[in-house]
Amino acid sequence: MRAARRLSRLALTALAALCLLPAARAQDGADAPVRIGVLAYKGPEAVQRDWSRLRLWLEASVPGRRFVLLDFDQAGLTRAARERAVDFVITSSGHYVALEHAAGASRIATLESPWAASPRQSIGSAIVVRRGAALAALPELAGKHVLAVDPDAFGGYQIAARELLAAGVDPEHDLGRLEFSGFPTQKILLAVRAGRADAGIVRICLLEQMIRSGELDAADLRVLAPVASPGSACQSSSRLYPDWPFAALRHTAPQLSKQVAVALLTMARTPDGYSWAVPGDYQGVDTLFRELRIGPYAYLREWSFETVLRRYWGLMLLALALLVGWAVHTVRVEHLVGRRTGQLRAAQETQRRMADEAQARQAALDHTARLAILGEMASAIAHELNQPLAAIGNFARGMARRIDAGRMEAAPLLEGANEIAAQSERAGNIMRNVRALAQKKPAERRHLDLAAVLEDAFALFRAAHPQAQLAWRGARAPAPVLADALQIQQVTLNLLKNALDAQRSAGRAEQAIEVGLDADAGAWRVSVRDSGCGLAPEQFARLFEPFFTTKAEGLGLGLSLSKSIIETFGGTLSARPNGDAAGLTICFTLPNMEHP
Ligand code: ADP
Repeated sequence: MRAARRLSRLALTALAALCLLPAARAQDGADAPVRIGVLAYKGPEAVQRDWSRLRLWLEASVPGRRFVLLDFDQAGLTRAARERAVDFVITSSGHYVALEHAAGASRIATLESPWAASPRQSIGSAIVVRRGAALAALPELAGKHVLAVDPDAFGGYQIAARELLAAGVDPEHDLGRLEFSGFPTQKILLAVRAGRADAGIVRICLLEQMIRSGELDAADLRVLAPVASPGSACQSSSRLYPDWPFAALRHTAPQLSKQVAVALLTMARTPDGYSWAVPGDYQGVDTLFRELRIGPYAYLREWSFETVLRRYWGLMLLALALLVGWAVHTVRVEHLVGRRTGQLRAAQETQRRMADEAQARQAALDHTARLAILGEMASAIAHELNQPLAAIGNFARGMARRIDAGRMEAAPLLEGANEIAAQSERAGNIMRNVRALAQKKPAERRHLDLAAVLEDAFALFRAAHPQAQLAWRGARAPAPVLADALQIQQVTLNLLKNALDAQRSAGRAEQAIEVGLDADAGAWRVSVRDSGCGLAPEQFARLFEPFFTTKAEGLGLGLSLSKSIIETFGGTLSARPNGDAAGLTICFTLPNMEHP
C-alpha cells in the first residue's frame, strides 16, 4: 500500500517534471549535462585523457550536474559556440579572442602551466634554427625558407608572425618561402635539423620537451633571438601571452558560470603541474590580431590601402601610366583639333573671299562680253534701225503729200498711220533689247519660259544679221526654267553668232542655222547646229578655254563665259561635230522646272 503510494507520488513528480521541463531548461538546463567544448589540437582521445580530471572535479564541485567533454577543431568549436551546442569552452588564447567577437565568450579562469612563470605570460613562439646557422636576428629571415604549423596556429605561427612584422619582415611576402606543415609539430624541428628549411616556428617549450625526451640533441638546434622572460622554463623568440582560458558563453547561465569559476579556482594542482588561476588579460592577443589583420580583424585586410598598394602596386602603376597616357593623348588631340579647326576656318575664309572675288570678276567679264557682242552688232543694229526709220519717213511723207493734194480718204491715211506705229514699235523693240543687254545688272534667278527667252534672242539676232537664216525645230510650248533671262539671251546670241561666223568662213552664210528645243531627262536641251567650217581635233579640245580664238578680231571669251553661266544655273554646255556632215552642234541644257 505504501509502495503504491510512493509509486504514484513518483509518477506525479515525473509528470510535473515533464511539464516543467521546457521551463526548467529555459532557466539553466538543470537536467541537461553541462557541455564543455574543448579545442582538440592533439586529437579527440587526448581531450578525454587530458581533461577528465577536471571533469570529475567539476562534477564533484557542482552538485547535481553532469559534465561532458566535447572535442572540436577551431571552426567546429566556433560553430558550436554560436549555435549554443556547448556551455563552456576551453580553447587557445588566440581562438578565445576570436570567440569573444563571434559568440560573446567571456573567460572565467586561465590555465596555469608548469613551465610558465605566470599564467599571464605563458604562450609564445620559438623560431628555431640550426645551431651553426649564420642567423642572429629576425630581419635576417627575409628571403629564407621557413616552416610553421598552420596559419591559424597561435603559438605555431601567429605570435612569431607579429614579431617578424615588427622586425620589418612581412612573413607573407618577404620570406623566401613560407610553408605550413600541420601537426604533429615535432616534424618541423626535425626538418630544420635535416636542413630542409632554414627555420621553424613552433610553440615555446617544444624544443626543450624534445631534447628532454631524447628526440633532439641540444647541440643540433637553438632558438633564434631569444627574448628574456624571467621565470620561464623555455626560450621564446617572442613576447608571451596568457595561457588557455576557460570561458563561459553569452547563453551560459550566470549562476552555473559562478559555480564553475569557484570550482576551477579551488581545484588542486594536477600531478603534472596544471591548475587554474584568475582570468588573465587577453588584450595583447587582440592587439596581435589587429596588427596581423587576422581573426576578427580579417576584414581590415580587404580594404587596407596599404595592403592593396603592396599587393597591386604593379597594376596600379600600370593603371596610373595608362591614365596619364590617356590624359596626355586627350590634351594633344584637343590641341590638334583646335589648331586644325583654326586652319579650316582660315581656309574657308580665304575660299569665301576668293569666291566673292571670282564672282565679281565674272560679273565684270559678263558685262564686258555683252558690250563686246553689242559692239560687234552695233553697225548691223544701226543698219537695221534705219529700215523702220526710213519706212516711217516714207509713210509720213506719203501721208503729207495726200493731205497736200486734198486726197483725204480715211483708209489710206489710217493704213499709213498704222504702218508708222508698227515700224516705230519694231524700232522700239530693238532698242529695248539692246539697252537691256548693255545694262550692268547682277545675275538673278527667276522662273522663265526658255522658249520666250530664245525668241527674244532670235529677234535681236535677226535685227543685227538680217541676211542670216534661222530654222526653228521643236514645239513652241512654254519651257519653264530658273535662270537670268539676259544671261541666257547672251549665251544664245553668242552661239548663233559663232555659228554664223563658221558658216561665213566656209562660204555657206546663206544656209539655215538650225535651233532646237527638246525636253530631255529632267532638263531642257537647246541645240544650235551649223554647217560651218567645224574645227580640227586639237582646236576642238580647246573650244571652251578662255581666250581661245581663231578669229582675227575675236576675244575668245564667248564660250568660256557661256559655259560658266549655264553651269551657274545647274546646266551643261557641250559641243560635238556633225558626224559626216560639215559643221558643229553646240548644246546647252537647263533643269526643267516642271520636274524639280
Ligand atoms: P570668239 O568667238 O571671240 O573667238 P568664242 O569663245 O565664242 O570666242 O569662240 C572661240 C573659238 O571657238 C572661235 O574662235 C572659233 O574658232 C571656235 N568656234 C566657236 N563656235 C564655233 C562653231 N560653231 N564652229 C566652228 N568653230 C567654232
